[in-house]
Amino acid sequence: MNYSEKSSSFDRHRPMKQADMHCRVSVPQSKLERLPSVPSSESVDEREERLFKSLDYGNHGYVLTSDLQRALTNIGLAPNDRRLSESMGALTAFLKQAQLSEEEDTSRHIPRGPFIDAVRSNIVLIERALQGRMVIPDFRTFCDEVDALYERTKLNRQGAPADYIPQLNLGEPDVDRFAMALCTVDGQQHATGDYEHRFTVQSASKPVNYCMALAEHGPEFVHEYIGQEPSGSSFNELTLNKQNKPHNPMINAGALMSSSLIGLSGRTSGAGQEDPRAWAGERFAHVMQTWRALCGQEEPTFSTSVYLSERETADRNHALAYFMREKRAFPSEACLHDVLDFYIQCCSIEVTAQMMSVVAGTLANGGVCPVTGERVFSSEIVRHCLSMMSSCGMYDYSGEFAFKVGLPAKSSVSGVVMVVIPNVMGLCTWSPRLDEIGNSARGLEFCQRLVDTYNFHNFDSLTGLSGKRDPRMDPIHQRALSVNEMILAASKGDLGAIQDQLKRGSDLQCKDYDLRTPLHLAAAENQLNVVGFFIERQRLDPESVNLNARDRWGGTPLDDAYLQSHAEMIELLEQAGAVRGDARERTLAQRNTHPALVTSDPLKTGELIWAASRGNLTAISKLVAQGVSLEAADYDLRTAMHLAAAEGETGVLRYLLAHGATVNARDRWGSTPLDEAIRHNAVDAAELLRAKCETVTCQADE
Ligand code: GLN
Repeated sequence: MNYSEKSSSFDRHRPMKQADMHCRVSVPQSKLERLPSVPSSESVDEREERLFKSLDYGNHGYVLTSDLQRALTNIGLAPNDRRLSESMGALTAFLKQAQLSEEEDTSRHIPRGPFIDAVRSNIVLIERALQGRMVIPDFRTFCDEVDALYERTKLNRQGAPADYIPQLNLGEPDVDRFAMALCTVDGQQHATGDYEHRFTVQSASKPVNYCMALAEHGPEFVHEYIGQEPSGSSFNELTLNKQNKPHNPMINAGALMSSSLIGLSGRTSGAGQEDPRAWAGERFAHVMQTWRALCGQEEPTFSTSVYLSERETADRNHALAYFMREKRAFPSEACLHDVLDFYIQCCSIEVTAQMMSVVAGTLANGGVCPVTGERVFSSEIVRHCLSMMSSCGMYDYSGEFAFKVGLPAKSSVSGVVMVVIPNVMGLCTWSPRLDEIGNSARGLEFCQRLVDTYNFHNFDSLTGLSGKRDPRMDPIHQRALSVNEMILAASKGDLGAIQDQLKRGSDLQCKDYDLRTPLHLAAAENQLNVVGFFIERQRLDPESVNLNARDRWGGTPLDDAYLQSHAEMIELLEQAGAVRGDARERTLAQRNTHPALVTSDPLKTGELIWAASRGNLTAISKLVAQGVSLEAADYDLRTAMHLAAAEGETGVLRYLLAHGATVNARDRWGSTPLDEAIRHNAVDAAELLRAKCETVTCQADE
């Protein structure tokens, strides 16, 4: 790709003037120029540079291969992800070269130049990965949680394998195998247990064959032969609807019908075929090719033994086919024996749970395979298929499944359950023991646990804050959103925003990393309307607001009012019964000394400071990759440095210092990070900061 051409379409970002960037406590924030935290127009090089910087933990001028690998695997991308092949290829080539020409150790180091050159080829995906902008941003935590669900589900040993097809009647230990795999619409992948074990897809071939029939003929034609209603009877029941059509494509009658439609045009016309005898072979090759594309170009296999076993015992399917032929349900060109054989072939395709999760991920992604970017089916076809899976995919349990789990899914007699969470991920469990309805017992339990934990049920969105977790939200972002936004609104006197957040379930007593509450900030900033509102709420429900919450320094909101000498505020709070705390000795910042930077993106700043206070370096590096300023300060002019120092997070301090954060920013009360480390007895942090203070004019001890 020609990047010189590409970069010409990006304007260089206008460098910020120092005066734009800094503001003192006394300057009202509304007068500040609003600065984008992530510049929207910038050259390609700046983007790559930022990624380099985010991973150059010690500011040594190189990135360790292990750090890059960890960052990618943390977000769920395998280093051998096909979408990263150009970049990874370039890096491998560079490292090989370095190993040949230099000492051992340097082979693990990627200097700026080679790093930038390499990531450029897959910049969009690498940038999203390193910035954490993927559908499940905290992928590691999510994987740990679903692994815990897997472990609990594994205890379930109820049910028995299918025995009407002899080859499916597995004995120990295969009968107790259990796999779980998932693939998000961004191609983040995770798998647990027997995820590399192959099983036949059986009924999970039904949605695929239905999609293939739709792709070949369109929905009108297909639904001249197949209905769209649940049958109300079991999957292989000898029954058709009132128009003598199979009820839907997810039961055997409907699947036999979809199978009869695949390749139909080629069979009748012989079009495009040099040798008509090749037709059946080509049709099955087309099916396998479709499966391969759905699996992200992993190879599906074919189980001859299951095929033979099923062919010998497919009496019910024969009966169904004859019944349908008698009712003239098939298109006239279809041949009964051929349809049956083809259907059984499709059921005997073998995949792993991991591959099946990619199939489900492709459906979740509207027909585009998330790990290859290849479009396999149109979004319209996928919509039809998911609709049928929602109402008919889980046999006679489909209605209850829609009620309890609320997701399109398909199960099969081999023990697979394929679940689609549209726009989020595809998921697959495989465990051969089936319940009396024919669904995998563990598969059902896992799905239930999944939607009990996360707001994945189709209609969870209607319930607002359901108390379930939303893994689409980064936890640190969520924190900043629920806490910092409320406190910011209080500090600005935006009562409307506070009331809005309250309706959405936010907590009036929320506390930030310094245990500051909305009331502290409203008192400090003399927001009488907000404080009045809080007092009223407290009068109505004493539990809802604590007028005397203590912050990190033991200060109450009344202390803030005194410190800022807000006479009216003092009176208001004292009349409501507020008392003073232990922060009497606090003073206000000395003006004009190292004022902290206030940015236009207070929520990102909130995220950064939360991450620093929790020692979360991964989150900080993602924020640096996004271009968030490390010097940004919150409503109390607290910075990431202050919180890392107060909490003794030396790893974070080192990273912040290596990336140019100032050591002597002063907060609302004039404290520097070193003051904070000393106050909280964070010996190592204080030592680190003192060492730095020798080289800059640190004013903490003045
Ligand atoms: N091949 C199986 C059959 O037709 C598929 C059924 C299923 O998985 N429910 O009997």
